[in-house]
Amino acid sequence: MTKNLIKQILDNPEHSVKDQALIKKAYDFAAKAHAGQKRKSGDDFIVHPISVAHYLSQIKMDAATIAAALLHDVLEDTYVTQQALKKEFSDEICFLVEGVSQLKKLKHLSRKELEHEQNQRLRKMFLAMAQDIRVVLIKLADRRHNLQTLEFLNQTIKKRKAFETIHIYSPVAARLGMGELKGELEDLAFPHAFPGEYKELMGKVKEKYREREKYLTRVKNTMEKRLRKNGIVPIDIHSRAKHYYSLYKKMIQENLDAQNVYDLVAIRIILENTDQCYETMGIIHKLWRPVPGYVKDFIALPKSNGYQSLHTTVFCERGKIVEFQIRTPDMHHHAENGVAAHWAYSEAGKPEGSVVADHKELNWINKLREWQSRSPNEFVESLKIDYLSERIFVFTPKGDVKDLPAGSTPIDFAYQVHSEIGDRIASAKVDGKIVPIRQELKTGQVVEIITSKNASPSRDWLKFTKTAEAKRKIRAFSRMTG
Ligand code: MN
Repeated sequence: MTKNLIKQILDNPEHSVKDQALIKKAYDFAAKAHAGQKRKSGDDFIVHPISVAHYLSQIKMDAATIAAALLHDVLEDTYVTQQALKKEFSDEICFLVEGVSQLKKLKHLSRKELEHEQNQRLRKMFLAMAQDIRVVLIKLADRRHNLQTLEFLNQTIKKRKAFETIHIYSPVAARLGMGELKGELEDLAFPHAFPGEYKELMGKVKEKYREREKYLTRVKNTMEKRLRKNGIVPIDIHSRAKHYYSLYKKMIQENLDAQNVYDLVAIRIILENTDQCYETMGIIHKLWRPVPGYVKDFIALPKSNGYQSLHTTVFCERGKIVEFQIRTPDMHHHAENGVAAHWAYSEAGKPEGSVVADHKELNWINKLREWQSRSPNEFVESLKIDYLSERIFVFTPKGDVKDLPAGSTPIDFAYQVHSEIGDRIASAKVDGKIVPIRQELKTGQVVEIITSKNASPSRDWLKFTKTAEAKRKIRAFSRMTG
């Protein structure tokens, strides 16, 4: 099996002869270093780094990332020293391997310590992202494979890894726009983090599975016929149950029960260009009545992680509720692979017919698109400088990440947590110390807001806020009170 996977990695036609030589060298080096080591599953240890590298090659990462993935455990788990690695590999590769090892230093912790540690680790992740995003991508791929082989570990470790994944790794994947990986990580963690809830949900969902498949096939056929009549030949129509963990969260948040599970299934239509996307949405709305409030144009207004697509939820055949996601192949690729997709493009050049949103409020991933034309090194540099100088990551005392524009203050933070907290902010603690609420926040800080019933926003605050949300709420409040 290992031979097969490594062959698939090497056979990627996008790799140059030099790339292949590098990957082969990293593989030989890692295989030698890990020789004789076994995984808990009984497999040879080398299966693990190969699987991690294989995933990264599938999402089209560059050869340096793949080589570093093959080497990612040698410093931590073998006798190989930093010096020995440096002798054989470039600074770039060593930097990536060391970066992953840094993120790895785990300790066994009590539950309470774990909460604290979670903040630390999230911070580490985001700071690593600042240095080189590829370090984090390797780490995510590492976690993915460890979860796939979690069954061989004991109960306590399983649970801890599952929680860590849901609280740390999946938010990071989401932040990077890697929707597919995020869903995958959560689904792998779900049964271990919440076994009871998982069982219950699976019971409900599986029952309906066949019925739902039949129904969706019918809807797809109707859809396709109607599109063809209008001269549109879709590149692909596929339906797919949403990821189980996100389905579980949605059911809890919106207080749904399994009866409504239909709207938790999306039909995706992939079309040649943006015009066809809009046209198709019109055709769907002529066929079936849209549910008010569920028509979303993420093409004109991409999500903050760069996601683009048209969404609509309709009362479909027999009155059932179905969501449609309409997008071009380029948008689809981005939706699945996020920042990794940008990497691939930065190397290979933009695909033909790619849609670059020209909306003014381009978020950071869209900015990355502009940088595609630059060399990979420049790309990483600009990621460090431009992106991180424009956004900051701060944390709630519970370890949730808030992503704010640079220059944001505790006032912005408070409004991002909840508008009522913003309206009632009295003072703020940063890393445990009281600070003025107009003080600028910095990446990595833990922010705690202290509220008071007697506090209220002042128009003055507009000068000390960066987010549109905070400004809007402050204005609304001062209008209300005259
Ligand atoms: Mn590993």
